[in-house]
Formats: sequence, structure tokens, C-alpha cells
Amino acid sequence: MESTATRVLATVASGVLGLLIGSFLNVVVYRLPRGESVVHPPSHCTVCQAQLGALENIPVVSWLALGGRCMHCRAPISPRYPVVELLTGALFAGLALALPDVAPLASLDAVLAGVLATVLVDLDGLEVPPSLGWLTLVAAATLIAVSVATSDLGRLGWAGIDAGAAIAACGLHIGAGRGTPSGRAAALASSAAWGFAAGWVAQGGGLAIGVVWALLALAGWLRGDGGRRGMVAAAGAVSVATIVAGAIATR
Ligand SMILES: [Zn+2]
Repeated sequence: MESTATRVLATVASGVLGLLIGSFLNVVVYRLPRGESVVHPPSHCTVCQAQLGALENIPVVSWLALGGRCMHCRAPISPRYPVVELLTGALFAGLALALPDVAPLASLDAVLAGVLATVLVDLDGLEVPPSLGWLTLVAAATLIAVSVATSDLGRLGWAGIDAGAAIAACGLHIGAGRGTPSGRAAALASSAAWGFAAGWVAQGGGLAIGVVWALLALAGWLRGDGGRRGMVAAAGAVSVATIVAGAIATR
């Protein structure tokens, strides 16, 4: 266990990093499903195309200072932008505070960022790009290195079991829906990543995700509309809740 000072520093730094990552997620969520580059062009107003200066890009603060409007054309900017930034900051800080050890913090932050992006794309009614699922899976896989470094290999067994459960249940959901091949690949890769991370933090935690997928599959079969928007988001929300609850419970 680290000193209190280390913990406070890690929490504050994680919160600030979360605000910045949240700001980046807003860009990713808008551009990735539309096949646009996430780095080029620089942030701009989607209405008047004016490029945003550094002062217009400060998470939460800029939105509040500008009254939720573009500085150039005064078009309203959705409150979702600062909400996503605040949520990401709060999750990163909360995880830094709750985890018994900061070793897996970076890996879990990366997984949470991937889950949030996936949830938001789904809520927008757009298809989740497989690349987002694969990136989240890579983030989850870095927990293997954390386990090796901290000689805590027991967690990997649960992580594997929970990933398997989440994948299997997601398979049911996919079987019930009418998704495209790339949408299915994204859902399976995401499930593997979410189940692995949830199982790593909260042994058996991925089973919660599996249960949600199975219930969604059942609902899809009963209603004949398994491909409806919001389903991936529901499973993602449970993943975030499981990871956070697991971190708090194991403290
Ligand atoms: Zn504008």
C-alpha cells in the first residue's frame, strides 16, 4: 500500500487525465463511426467549421465559459460534451481512489475509456466500429502484464472465465439480432475485453455482463428486434458498474 500522499496525487492526476481523455472521446465518438481521422483536422465547430483554439478546448470549463455555444457562430454545443468529460474524469479519479493498488490503474482507465466510447457510439444509433472493440481488448490484455509484474496470476483465471462467459452470452445476443458482420465483430471483441477486465477486478464480475447479454438476447428473440440501438450501451454500462463496484469491494 502506498502513502496517502501518493494516493491523493494519483487520484487528482487521474481525474485531470480523465477530463482530457473524455474530451478526446467526444472527438472519437463523433469521427470514428463516420470513418474520419481522430487526429486530423484539429477540433472544429461542426456547424461553422471554425477551428477551436486552446482556450475553447479546455474540458468542461470552456463549455461553461461560452454558455454552451460556439464562440464563432453561437450555435449551441450539446451538454453531452462536458457531461462525458466530467464522467470520464470522475470514473478515472474514483478508480484511483478505490483500487487497493494503483498497478492496474492505467489498464483499467484505458478499458473504461473504450467502454465509454462504445456506449456513446451505440447511443448515437451508429454502428460500433470493430477497431474500437479491438483497441479495448488490447487495453484489457495489458492486465496480463500487470498480473505478471505483481505476481497475482490468480486473477487471470477469473478474467479468462469471465471473458468466455461474456463472449458466449454475446454470441446469443448476436444470434438473436440482425447486426452486420462488422457490428458483430465489434460486439464480440468488446465483450471479450469487458468480461476480461471485469473478471480481473471482481472475480466473477464478467458473469454480470454475460447475464445482461443473455437477457438482451432473450428480449431480442421475444420481440424479433435484437439489433436495436441501446443494447450494446446497456451491456457497456453494466461493465463500467462492475469494474467500479469490484474495485470498491476489493479495497
Ligand atoms: Zn460554430
